[in-house]
Amino acid sequence: MSADFDAIVVGAGFGGLGAALHLAEEGARVMLVERLQYPGGCACTFEHEGDWFEGGATLFSGFEEGQLFRSWIERHSMDVEFEHLDPPLELRTPHMVLEARRDRQALRDQFEALPGAPVKNLRRFFALQERVAAALWPTLEDTTLLPPLTMRRALRHSLRLPRYWPLARWAGRPLWAILERYELTEFEPLVTWLDSQCQITVQCGAREAEAPIALAALDYHHRGAVHVKGGIGQLAWGMVRALEGLGGVVSFGAPVKRARREPGEGWVVKAGKEEHTSRHVIFNALPQDAARIAGLEDAASLRKMAARVEDGWSAAMLFRTVRPPAGAGASARHVELVRDTERPFLEGNHVFLSIGAEGEGVQDPKLRRMTVSTHISVPKLRTLDDAGQREYVETVQDQMRETIAQLAPEWTSIAREFTGSARTFRRWTGRSEGLVGGIPRRAGLSHYQEVLGRRWPAGFHLVGDSVFPGQSTLAVAAGGRRVAESVLAAR
Ligand SMILES: Cc1cc2nc3c(=O)[nH]c(=O)nc-3n(C[C@H](O)[C@H](O)[C@H](O)COP(=O)(O)OP(=O)(O)OC[C@H]3O[C@@H](n4cnc5c(N)ncnc54)[C@H](O)[C@@H]3O)c2cc1C
Repeated sequence: MSADFDAIVVGAGFGGLGAALHLAEEGARVMLVERLQYPGGCACTFEHEGDWFEGGATLFSGFEEGQLFRSWIERHSMDVEFEHLDPPLELRTPHMVLEARRDRQALRDQFEALPGAPVKNLRRFFALQERVAAALWPTLEDTTLLPPLTMRRALRHSLRLPRYWPLARWAGRPLWAILERYELTEFEPLVTWLDSQCQITVQCGAREAEAPIALAALDYHHRGAVHVKGGIGQLAWGMVRALEGLGGVVSFGAPVKRARREPGEGWVVKAGKEEHTSRHVIFNALPQDAARIAGLEDAASLRKMAARVEDGWSAAMLFRTVRPPAGAGASARHVELVRDTERPFLEGNHVFLSIGAEGEGVQDPKLRRMTVSTHISVPKLRTLDDAGQREYVETVQDQMRETIAQLAPEWTSIAREFTGSARTFRRWTGRSEGLVGGIPRRAGLSHYQEVLGRRWPAGFHLVGDSVFPGQSTLAVAAGGRRVAESVLAAR
């Protein structure tokens, strides 16, 4: 069989976009198919009654000189502008306000200035955090360091071995063990900070989070977090156009329901009403969804991954346009709110509130758009019938409103509001049960298994937030690029 394409990428989330663009850059014949009419998946900008909203992700890394998104933007002259935010994030609880400043010392100074702060131990903790982040972040910037561990990669890693020492010591252990080691478990402000950051990055609290991954994730404010002007959809479209400019074929409104392998020949992919052939198929989907589409429900490795994803989260959302308070400033803002630091950082008790820049995406330039999210439990939803699920989600959304009213009252002059939930994410992105956020990175060595690579059926590949290096727009794009490299190596 002479295949139509070297690779068909199913899904134009950032995992699929990263894979497709890199393949096209290297001269491969690529097709990208997306079920929706626009790219981005959980990191999209969508239209609702004339206004444009961020679908989920709002704060982004990878835009510094030489970093992945910046390199793509420059190489393809994409029409994408971004703004560095400092602070990228503000954390509010009833007891404190903390600015996650870009400058490390500016963040540390805020902790050290608090009454009773254990300054010496805080410094030791942050020194370790910085060392671990310095060891792991380069893998997102230089994807040739990412697994699978080929001989060449192993050699490059061996030169970096001294940097990995703190990882070896703490791998498989929870972040909490480090707090115990430095006698910081009683210092509430730090614990609250870590719980809030771990929940939005590694998808679980500090007591459970896999220490090295959590320590690295904590660095994102210090590595140039940006707001993409107009919305992250600008970058997603920029990548689509770059792909087309390189000869890639892109098809929107084309859900892939079935892909089958013809032994010894390649893949036949049915996208919408059309069939295409390809040597490789790259699924930008959850393992359980990719398995179903590819008829690989029995593949043990996919079943194992699916079980880990199923233990995770969906999100409840509020999308609003609001009248800004006086002196709000023109820039985008991100405020994280925790109403009760003693309760789990979920279900409306903990919300991430992102406010668009002045005039951005709104028909009425006096209004500001807002995307608000909180974690909801999919295992809990699974135990409920339809009415029970609706009640759970509505209760959570009420909690979100209450948390905003208490901790960010200046942003509650609402012009309009609509909501989203697990059901929305399922319909929207095709993710089973509306599971978003990837695999919760709870302590354990299983997260590093992919360093040795996985064995998939020939020509089958998976990208997105359930595979290494995990969740976030940058991580899935870097992971997509890595998978593209392995496809190219197999050409
Ligand atoms: C509420 C929320 C807030 C977040 N905030 C941030 C943030 O601030 N910063 C950050 O970096 N990250 C954030 N994230 C995480 C980030 O959005 C995700 O990790 C990342 O976007 C996931 O990308 P993906 O490629 O894995 O999958 P997705 O984004 O789900 O993309 C998959 C795409 O594939 C398409 N597709 C699926 N199945 C098929 C099929 N059969 N046929 C055709 N097309 C198909 C879908 O329609 C979708 O477009 C957030 C996530 C959520 C949910």
